[in-house]
Amino acid sequence: MGLLLNLRQLKTDPVHLDGELSPQELEIESVDELIRVPLPLKYHLDAQLFDDSILVEGYLRVGLSCECVRCLKKFDQTLSLESWACHIPLEGEDRAAVVNDAVDLTPYVREDILLLFPQHPLCEPGCSGLPNGLPGGLSGTPAPGQTRESPSAWAELNKLKLD
Ligand SMILES: [Zn+2]
Repeated sequence: MGLLLNLRQLKTDPVHLDGELSPQELEIESVDELIRVPLPLKYHLDAQLFDDSILVEGYLRVGLSCECVRCLKKFDQTLSLESWACHIPLEGEDRAAVVNDAVDLTPYVREDILLLFPQHPLCEPGCSGLPNGLPGGLSGTPAPGQTRESPSAWAELNKLKLD
């Protein structure tokens, strides 16, 4: 089903679209195993027709449920595009597929939302990973006098190991 923009309607007036797209419709559920999309994406869009293209502008928002790549803690992140704009050609090689006088905007929304997905989800920028799950070699004897390994040192170490 998706997010359909009726071109016949658009020929007479700008079209306003409000609604939701489910994660299933967007096909963004299983793009990354550390990122879940529990709720639909919300959109408020305005579309205008030009000679050989459509301009769609508006607002997109979707909440993600992520798992930290270092410490596996779950956290939520909201992606919002306050002034999304998409130019969709109706002529030429990249022209949109028109089915029953309608263009499905779903692939365009999907593409731009996916670009915002975190590549390496982190619960916080300096997450130092699991307390007991540090990569090998340095564990073993946490003696009381061992003060050299401050939290920031651990963070630095993890950066080196994981990046
Ligand atoms: Zn973390």
